[in-house]
Amino acid sequence: MDRDIDDLSRLADQAALGLLRIDGEFLVAHANDMAHHLLAKRPGGLVGHSVMEAFLDHRVEELMTDPTEASTLEIDGPAARRLLVRVRLDQAGPPGCWTLLEDVTELRRLQRIRTEFIDNLSHELRTPLTTIRLLTERLADELLTLDVPSRVRDRVATIDVETGHLVQMVNELLDLSRIEQATTTLHLEDVAVAPLLEAAIARMRTFADRSSVDLELDVPADVPPLRGDPGRLAQLLLNLVHNAVKFSPDGHRVTLAARQEGDMVVLAVTDEGIGIARADQARIFERFYKVDRARDRGQGGTGLGLAIARHIAEAHGGSLGVESEEGKGATFLVSLPVSVSGDGRSAAPARAG
Ligand code: ADP
Repeated sequence: MDRDIDDLSRLADQAALGLLRIDGEFLVAHANDMAHHLLAKRPGGLVGHSVMEAFLDHRVEELMTDPTEASTLEIDGPAARRLLVRVRLDQAGPPGCWTLLEDVTELRRLQRIRTEFIDNLSHELRTPLTTIRLLTERLADELLTLDVPSRVRDRVATIDVETGHLVQMVNELLDLSRIEQATTTLHLEDVAVAPLLEAAIARMRTFADRSSVDLELDVPADVPPLRGDPGRLAQLLLNLVHNAVKFSPDGHRVTLAARQEGDMVVLAVTDEGIGIARADQARIFERFYKVDRARDRGQGGTGLGLAIARHIAEAHGGSLGVESEEGKGATFLVSLPVSVSGDGRSAAPARAG
């Protein structure tokens, strides 16, 4: 066993990963060189010390105590380091767990630079684009009263539509970067589920009617309220329902359903449309990712809707995923915390994703 641990430790050192074995008393039983380096301890200085002494963050021990908790956590380490802690509960071996430690300082710095760049760029683009949009609209109006060939009007109309897409994209980019930078504050309150879904249906009704898509609601009476920011959740649902309608053939159905699963409420948006191939299912949540650009041409999608939706779900401590088979429709599942009555919080900062 000791040799195995030594081998593993060396391997983890090579991969620049800290590796710690924590015993059933929350004491460090073993730690490799990289773990000592990342936690700024002298060689061997971690062994025998408590998890709290090692990490100086009480949440790490909480993560080890509760196996149902998500098993990763980011903490501020020594020397301005950002550390990613992964806990693996060891069911088979003696009581305790394995912990992996990764230095994500540089990664987070680069992500911050990217987000700030997108934010600045979108700000700079928004003003001239809005002006172009207004002028194009005015020009289109003026052309109505002038004797010009119809192709001129058509061209101006196309410029108007495409500028609209650009404005939408810039606004969505700004939204996304704000959510990512956690500068958006979530205004949490208890939210009744059926009215939340009904409101999304009401707002999408006209769009759905255009392609004769039926919007249906399926919420059992015993689904409890959830804890969330109604405005942000409305935005999330609109993105999902808009997609469901957009990718449905005429005359089909889109269902908005809800159910309770433990301490979460799961909202499901199901369509009978083109579906999403397995290989694309993870990627559609990336910014700008579209499965088939050619097929989507002219529909005005930016490829940002699902990235925003996932950030909103995660900022709530929830998640967004998809189940689908190509050609057989798709179900997007949003998992959000059930409201805990008496929970006094009324606002919480959004977490960076
Ligand atoms: P877009 O603005 O293009 O809709 P999204 O981020 O909302 O951007 O979606 C990304 C891509 O995921 C879409 O372009 C589409 O290829 C795919 N997609 C999203 N929702 C569905 C759906 N309900 N059915 C099939 N494909 C979907």
